[in-house]
Amino acid sequence: MSSNVWQEDLYNPQQRVDEFKKLKPEFWKHKKLEQLSKAEWEALCDGCGKCCLNKLEIKGKVKYTNTHCRFLDCKTCLCKIYEHRFEAVKDCRDIDLAAVREKPRWLPKTCAYWLLDNGYDLPQWHPLITGKADSVYEAGMSANTRELVNETKVRDYENYIVDWQDV
Ligand code: SF4
Ligand code: SF4
Repeated sequence: MSSNVWQEDLYNPQQRVDEFKKLKPEFWKHKKLEQLSKAEWEALCDGCGKCCLNKLEIKGKVKYTNTHCRFLDCKTCLCKIYEHRFEAVKDCRDIDLAAVREKPRWLPKTCAYWLLDNGYDLPQWHPLITGKADSVYEAGMSANTRELVNETKVRDYENYIVDWQDV
């Protein structure tokens, strides 16, 4: 499907983080993932964009590639069609509890949902800690700190497998 069919949203990563400042401070320390409101759940996403990279499952293990969904904005690491993503991309996954707990794990090791669900705290670079969307990029934890290839240019994903420590 052509990306032109979908009107692209103009998200501003810092505006998104500023919205989350209205939430109760450190809410994630006092609730389980199951108890979060929709706004709290959304706020936990650090905007790293790594879940929008294509992956392969080989012999029961998930391998990341440095190829990205055509709708990922590689500058902001946000989805360009967030409101329509499931209509536009048949294998775009909702990040819900089932996704967080799926085996083999396919969310990156840095994903806030996975970290909290496995007893870890949020990393110091998480926007909920720093108040800055940029802190994810500055820490080198986002997809936009890597050399990426648009999936529309890819024939064989196996040629793009990466061995990053944070996925
Ligand atoms: S990997 Fe997790 S924290 Fe990063 S963008 Fe995806 S859902 Fe958000
Ligand atoms: S459509 Fe789905 S996989 Fe593609 S960028 Fe948007 S959220 Fe990520």
